[in-house]
Amino acid sequence: MLQNPIWDFFVKIEQDASKAECTTCGKNYSLGSDKPKLQTVAGLKSHLAKQNKDVNAEYQKRAAERIKENATKKLKLDKSVAVSEPKLGQPSLLQFKE
Ligand SMILES: [Zn+2]
Repeated sequence: MLQNPIWDFFVKIEQDASKAECTTCGKNYSLGSDKPKLQTVAGLKSHLAKQNKDVNAEYQKRAAERIKENATKKLKLDKSVAVSEPKLGQPSLLQFKE
């Protein structure tokens, strides 16, 4: 899975796993928990939306691109499966004509 593009704009704080630092303004924002499963980036997103408009625009762009990348990758994967299938099958019937 590709990383959330929000992490292009925040860094995790080693001393306090429940917080992340905004690389634009240097302030710390809560992830809601120090346990990865319970963490949320909602606070980070709303900080970008409210405080760093230019950065937020860049984040939105990257998030949209990443969704597109994911979709393209999935498509390529489906195609490669379809292309390799005939090789695994029986010899073509054409070989037995005549
Ligand atoms: Zn900030």
